[in-house]
Amino acid sequence: MSHHHEIVEALQQIGYRLTPQRMMILDAIASGDGHTSAEEIHEAVRAAYPYLDISTVYRTLGLLKALHLVSETDLGSGHAQYELLSKGLHHHLICRECGGILDVDNSFLNPLRQAIDQEHDFHAEIEHLAIFGMCNACNANLRG
Ligand SMILES: [Zn+2]
Ligand SMILES: [Zn+2]
Repeated sequence: MSHHHEIVEALQQIGYRLTPQRMMILDAIASGDGHTSAEEIHEAVRAAYPYLDISTVYRTLGLLKALHLVSETDLGSGHAQYELLSKGLHHHLICRECGGILDVDNSFLNPLRQAIDQEHDFHAEIEHLAIFGMCNACNANLRG
């Protein structure tokens, strides 16, 4: 619930009302085990709001994303997965062979952020990065 509290405050500070629908959508993202698709969010919210259509879910996700409250990342499934940014910045290494996902600490990206800032005068917002490649086990299998 502490995540909600921050998000409610963040929305109110910039003048957005947290409607019951938006609250339900946040709940659905928060109660998922990390990454949740728009379809899964839609399913979860429809239990309480049968007439909620998926375009409302996408609109709300767009708003939450623009406010940097939620990250939107394709982790290889072909559609976006959503995650609350208030859970802490992290990134993922995703194996193309087995689909395994490893978490990467946010501090790994600080040298990249600094380099981009210095070389390009650009402030990179790297909130939830998916890096595709191959895990060691799959790499060993392929090499036989
Ligand atoms: Zn994640
Ligand atoms: Zn693998």
